[in-house]
Amino acid sequence: MRADQILQPTHEGLYCIPGDFHIDPLRPVHRALITHGHGDHARAGHGSVLATAQTLDIMAIRYGEDFTASRQIADGPVRIGTTTVSFHPAGHILGSAQIAIQPDKGPKIVVSGDYCRRANPVCAPYEPVSCDVFVTEATFGLPVFRHPDPMQEMSRLLASMAEFPDRPHLIGAYALGKAQHVIALARRAGIDGPIAIHGALQRLCDYHQAQGIDLGPLIPATAADMPSQLVVAPPSAFSSPWVQRFRDPVIGFASGWMQVRARARQRGVELPLVISDHVDWPQVTQTIRQLNPSEVWITHGAEEGLMRWCALNGFAARPLRLVGYEEEPE
Ligand SMILES: [Zn+2]
Ligand SMILES: [Zn+2]
Repeated sequence: MRADQILQPTHEGLYCIPGDFHIDPLRPVHRALITHGHGDHARAGHGSVLATAQTLDIMAIRYGEDFTASRQIADGPVRIGTTTVSFHPAGHILGSAQIAIQPDKGPKIVVSGDYCRRANPVCAPYEPVSCDVFVTEATFGLPVFRHPDPMQEMSRLLASMAEFPDRPHLIGAYALGKAQHVIALARRAGIDGPIAIHGALQRLCDYHQAQGIDLGPLIPATAADMPSQLVVAPPSAFSSPWVQRFRDPVIGFASGWMQVRARARQRGVELPLVISDHVDWPQVTQTIRQLNPSEVWITHGAEEGLMRWCALNGFAARPLRLVGYEEEPE
């Protein structure tokens, strides 16, 4: 069987024919395999969900315990239909996984979901999984995207906090993954006092701590006289009255997109921090070279740029043109 007889892009998302399951479906399906807990990948209402224990926990935190009728932890190879599937760390957020599909007859396909090659203190590192077909994201799939060392961005934050000791530093970061990543990096950079967090981050930060990821002392960003100069909040908080309780704040935002200065200006960000949980251009091209698959399938973002690179470098590639994954929290 050819790869496109095994896995197909559909309205609901990627569908595996011999396994009769969907990966990260956008609409309710009877059997979903889910790579990670971000809202554009993990949705409620599927008949059954197979995912890592942490992704299942995160879905329960976000959607309630009844987010699916039946859940199964992916803790080893699983037989589904005439395929064997296995989950492997993707290095993107806590619990994130790549899904490898080995059909009884046909090529091995790895759906990487979202992934990142740079070490992240809040999750297991990406693990290269050899395959015939590699399905990759292209969120930052253009040569201009080269993410700096995140500790370099942290030193810019520290410098700003030292320069403006009387101004609270409000850092926007998506609630799942990025917020905890930023807090863990701040700890590595030497900030050891309490860090204030917006209420929307509380449960997910608690869950990370319960999973053994040390985020240090966190306090709610509610007290008027908070003993913390650093505040982490989801981006939505910055367009709400919540932000008005802070006097003369330095507004920062942690995202791979902050490399695009126009985006930072548009959001009124004074302190853009280029911190990403996705592969940048050098990482995605290096990964394709390393895995050396016979086909690359591209989704999520700058498909054309990566298509061109694949063509120039002798990799057969196709764009999947899946719609609905454009709200990636990054
Ligand atoms: Zn994601
Ligand atoms: Zn995504």
